[in-house]
Amino acid sequence: MNKIIEKAASRVRSRKPSPGGSTSDSKTLKNQGSNASCLNISSTNTLGYGNLRCAVALPEGEDLNEWIAYHISDFYKQTTMLYGAILPKCTTANCPTMSAGKHCYGYLWQEVSGSTPKPLPAAEYVDNLMTWINELLEDEKMFPSAINLPFPAQFRDNAYKIIKRLFRVYAHIYLHHLQDVREMKMEPHLNSSFKHFIFFVQEFQLISAEELKPLQEVIDVLTKKVPC
Ligand SMILES: [Zn+2]
Repeated sequence: MNKIIEKAASRVRSRKPSPGGSTSDSKTLKNQGSNASCLNISSTNTLGYGNLRCAVALPEGEDLNEWIAYHISDFYKQTTMLYGAILPKCTTANCPTMSAGKHCYGYLWQEVSGSTPKPLPAAEYVDNLMTWINELLEDEKMFPSAINLPFPAQFRDNAYKIIKRLFRVYAHIYLHHLQDVREMKMEPHLNSSFKHFIFFVQEFQLISAEELKPLQEVIDVLTKKVPC
């Protein structure tokens, strides 16, 4: 298992269960669909990192590939920690396949290029995904850490693929584990992290409207226009 996920999961396992916590709420929530009004997301329930919409814009003189690589590494860490926290609840029984909304969007895992994509339990899908991203991040040819080393020609393709797949992790957490997140008092962290992520996605148009649909109403609530 991915080390960061395991670390976050063990931290949660060692906590005492929160009083009044129940899994039935999260079941009800699953059936309520994917909109923010049902999820009751509030734009003010964030950590208040200042104006994130402005913070994601490419600074003058900055290399776009460097900027994208920096953010991917950051979003990877954030999603790994957030998902790791709810991992104990993301069992094969609760989440037999990786999806965003019970009847909405199912995601298939393709082991290698050319192989037939297949459904996996959500935890296995996310573990495979985070392992794949981690391997890319540690590959000096793909994500060079030295400033003077050039990024490879396929960097953008891989970067966009990573971003698209990280979105699925946020979508799964929101649509299947929001009650778990709330019980752990982590909703401001989730909202702030996703808000930052989605501003970055919008700034560089990294994910299609179709792919974003499962969380469209959450996005609308969290990204209400703020002037830069
Ligand atoms: Zn799950």
